[in-house]
Amino acid sequence: MKQLILYLFSILFLSNLLSAQTDNSIKYRAPLEIPLIISANFGELRPNHFHMGVDFKTNGVEGQKLVAIERGYVSRISVSPNGYGKAIYINHPNGITSVYAHCSAFLGKIDALVKLTQEQNKNFEVEIFPSSTDIVLTKGENFALSGNTGHSTAPHLHFELRDTKTETALNPLKFGFDIVDEIPPEILGLKIYSLTERGYRIKGKSKNIAVKKGKYGYTIGGNTAILSSDFCTENGGIGIAFEVLDHHSKATNPIGIYGSYLLVNKDTLFGNKVDSISFPSTRYINSHIDYEENSVNKRKYQKSFRTAENNLSIYNRSGLGIIYMTPKDSSEITYVAYDTKNNKSQLKFKLKISPGPLNVIQQKNDFLFPDKTFSQKNELLEIKIPEGCLYEPVPKNLQIGSLVSIGSAATPVQLPIQIKLPLKSTNLPTEKYYIAANSKYIPTKFSDGWLSAEVKSLGAFSVQLDTVGPSLSPLNFTINEPISAKKTLSWKITENKTAISDYDLYIDGKWYLLEFESKGSYVFFRVPTGLKNKHTVKIITKDVCGNESIWEMDMSF
Ligand SMILES: [Zn+2]
Repeated sequence: MKQLILYLFSILFLSNLLSAQTDNSIKYRAPLEIPLIISANFGELRPNHFHMGVDFKTNGVEGQKLVAIERGYVSRISVSPNGYGKAIYINHPNGITSVYAHCSAFLGKIDALVKLTQEQNKNFEVEIFPSSTDIVLTKGENFALSGNTGHSTAPHLHFELRDTKTETALNPLKFGFDIVDEIPPEILGLKIYSLTERGYRIKGKSKNIAVKKGKYGYTIGGNTAILSSDFCTENGGIGIAFEVLDHHSKATNPIGIYGSYLLVNKDTLFGNKVDSISFPSTRYINSHIDYEENSVNKRKYQKSFRTAENNLSIYNRSGLGIIYMTPKDSSEITYVAYDTKNNKSQLKFKLKISPGPLNVIQQKNDFLFPDKTFSQKNELLEIKIPEGCLYEPVPKNLQIGSLVSIGSAATPVQLPIQIKLPLKSTNLPTEKYYIAANSKYIPTKFSDGWLSAEVKSLGAFSVQLDTVGPSLSPLNFTINEPISAKKTLSWKITENKTAISDYDLYIDGKWYLLEFESKGSYVFFRVPTGLKNKHTVKIITKDVCGNESIWEMDMSF
């Protein structure tokens, strides 16, 4: 009996878990009170990540009401000059969290709690995790206003759904929001690669092919792609990537596709579909697309194959998608791309390989490999490139001299590389020194004569010095003009070498909130309505190397 109860309990527990992950039976209400128009969808291809939510248009303005899509409680509030800017996370009873980013303002209890925390911490940037009873919202309750804060280039709502437990991002368009879309994806190009048996591309063996739209779907010139025999390598195969995007009925901007599959001689060889993506895996986009083609030509080819290391959850086939063909072979290729409303586009062509000798791969001696850790330790350098860091083998190119360099700055990496450079006798405090990767500052620590840092890039590393603090200059007022009519005062903030670590405003010695927008590099102060007459305004800014700058002036309000 006890066992049966345990068994029943575990079935209940399991099904609960499963339903939390896949429950899309609940009818959520829209997060906005205006009609939902998409400007970007889930899984779109962005630099170093997939788009983890949906962007909804807000009529080009800030201040649209944001409402809870379902009852729940505010589980997280964050305010940052970067990323999501001002953002709210709501946990719902069914195990789903909804996220609303780039807000312009918070309302009611949320606003009060943020202001109190900023005042207590004397900091604009806050991260608050209220308890489940602190801020409870009803379905449809207005808790914030839409905006353009953080990494956002125009007013919009960045909206996400996440599995509360795992924080994996889920495709909101699979949860029944009211979206009209009757336009199928558009296929713009294809690229064929020679691959190793692990799905790595063989250098110099790829071919771009133009795609044209015909009466019965997409095809290529002559309906056939012919590859020379030396495109094939012993044990290796062929992979294909597609440049593809989607449109939808209510707007002109292109969006991303939902999924695609590849058929070879009518058998499905590969498929992908963006239902969910975890945050730790999202950077694997660098392997999902042809990274070099994107960085050089700004064209995004999505591979219909993957490397052995690429375990992104978007692939719904176990194989790598490699087409095994030898000289004289011919295959019928069909590629289908579709959106969440199942509008489809199809590309069909024949793939032929000419008779002749195979390509012979040169031995790779001095290479860094995805499935191997590389480390080096001597008096000039300590470096560790962990297993799983690289997407494909790359030449090591290790150079140790006045500048240390390894690999190429153009190579993408998945995991942080640990690097240590010695800091010999110095006449300045050690905090003034930092490690630069390809001339860019990276957060650096010092201990026992070594600077150490974690960096997500290969290339050249060096020790640099920063002795100058950030500079500040008035942006929306001049010193001679009366400022009594201004609701906000703003200053341009510039930090040349490293990064800004703190910024505070004082009036007659009392701390006031100074907000920071990193995308325009400016700080601003909302002038309190009661502030009148002459006061001393002082702003202290600091950078990460402990350099301080002070801007001070007597101002008449
Ligand atoms: Zn977004």
